[in-house]
Amino acid sequence: MFAQRTVYTNSDPPNVASLIAQIPEEPNEILQYTQQVLPDWILGECPQFSLDLFKFNEQWAYACVQLNIVPQKVLIVTETYLDLQNTSHTLVREVCRKLTLKGFVVVDSINFGVCVRCNHVMVSEKRFIEGGLKYLGLCQKCFPHDPRNSA
Ligand SMILES: [Zn+2]
Repeated sequence: MFAQRTVYTNSDPPNVASLIAQIPEEPNEILQYTQQVLPDWILGECPQFSLDLFKFNEQWAYACVQLNIVPQKVLIVTETYLDLQNTSHTLVREVCRKLTLKGFVVVDSINFGVCVRCNHVMVSEKRFIEGGLKYLGLCQKCFPHDPRNSA
């Protein structure tokens, strides 16, 4: 569903220290900066998780209350944060850390996709099909169904 444009490797750009030092503080500025230093890394921006994944909204809201910050957006990216914790790509790691601290949620396009109708985050097409389910591109709110019967 997302076009894969830039392939990110596990290595940092040569000027990584200065790029990290310049990461702004304001949420929208961080987002713009990220799009500039990691072009095509963010594939989708969504207001929240869909009804299918409401637990993720709860956890996100809880984390924001704990940090005393305002929830921003869910960002669907080409790589997972968890995978990158094991790599030497400090720029991606620092950008993820900063985005998360400012109210964004960073998730990967392997596991997550977007409802074509309401633009809320749902399980990816790949994971739907792996689970033996028929993929319609719609969340439960937009197409109420019992997924156990739709295979
Ligand atoms: Zn929907």
